[in-house]
Amino acid sequence: MPDHAVDVSDGTITGVGRFPGYVDVIDLGNSVLMPQLSNVHLHPLDYFLMGTYGIHYIDDLVGAPYGIKYVELRKKSPEELRGGLRMIFRRMKKMGVGFILPIVEYGVRYVGVVVEEARSAGIITRPLAEPSSFRVYVHEEEEDDVDESFEEEVRLFVENGYWLSLVSPLNYTRAELTLASRIVSAGGGWLSTHVSETPDTHEDGDLVRLIETTMGMTLLVHLTQASRDELGMVRHLPLALCPRSNSILVNRLPPIGEMMELGIRPMLGTDNLALVEPNPLDEARYLYYASRVMGRPVEPRELLMMITTWAWGWGIGFNITEGQTMRGVAIGLAYNGVDVEGIHEYVLLRTNPGDIVAVIDGDEALRW
Ligand SMILES: [Zn+2]
Repeated sequence: MPDHAVDVSDGTITGVGRFPGYVDVIDLGNSVLMPQLSNVHLHPLDYFLMGTYGIHYIDDLVGAPYGIKYVELRKKSPEELRGGLRMIFRRMKKMGVGFILPIVEYGVRYVGVVVEEARSAGIITRPLAEPSSFRVYVHEEEEDDVDESFEEEVRLFVENGYWLSLVSPLNYTRAELTLASRIVSAGGGWLSTHVSETPDTHEDGDLVRLIETTMGMTLLVHLTQASRDELGMVRHLPLALCPRSNSILVNRLPPIGEMMELGIRPMLGTDNLALVEPNPLDEARYLYYASRVMGRPVEPRELLMMITTWAWGWGIGFNITEGQTMRGVAIGLAYNGVDVEGIHEYVLLRTNPGDIVAVIDGDEALRW
């Protein structure tokens, strides 16, 4: 909107409206101001595997706990990965990302370094810490068992204010899923897990297993194979979609048309850092084109909401409205006479990190 202003006092938005002529004005020029972006599913720790995705089969690479990623993470140390993480998070900040839900494999070992480096880059994070124990296969007679170290780690994460990530409901017993979900939701946190990413996990009933055992806020990631009936069962839960990763790893996209028809408001994530750039705007842009190929076009405004205010609707991420912490990104318009009516389409399809003129954190405008 032309000549618009946001009043900020002590980092909090106190008004949104027309320019009143106050002092201490930061002029963002001919730009669009929008909330900083949320990336609600990414694996930052696997960056050192860049370039290996075309060479190895996906399960050999990231399958828990035998894949190359897990083997390497058991050998490495947090200090070895610190420098790489610092570069990643600074790069993401320049993409306008202000909030992330990173998956932290071997959470006990690595959650500290992920939180520290995200914070130093000015990114707010709720780390999804992953326990160290997995069951490659759960036998029927084990369903009531709870691994002692699993329970200990889950309690430790929650005591420290971290949220929980389980690689798949198929890697834990029903008793473990129920217990973990109870502990996390009692602490006010979220449980996140990959669900129905591949035909195999879907056929093995991962979604139903999760619904039958868990409560509270469970973030479901992927749902690439989910049917309309199954989507109906989970429409009350937060969803994270990673269409670019799905295209590469499972050659299929999540049923976005059905989701929108059911009133689901999915969020977006960029999944494995070694596979795709962690820019949520790229993810939304890809879905714009892909949804058209699928014959179920999603509107630019909705795609931008998937990476901003729909996350805020679940209590994470940001919105530019009175009473909220000011976390904005100003996108410069590179062409004269851009029509305000088509601004969502413009921002979605024509914005690159180089167009970002400032990232605003509270009273401060960061420029590079
Ligand atoms: Zn993932």
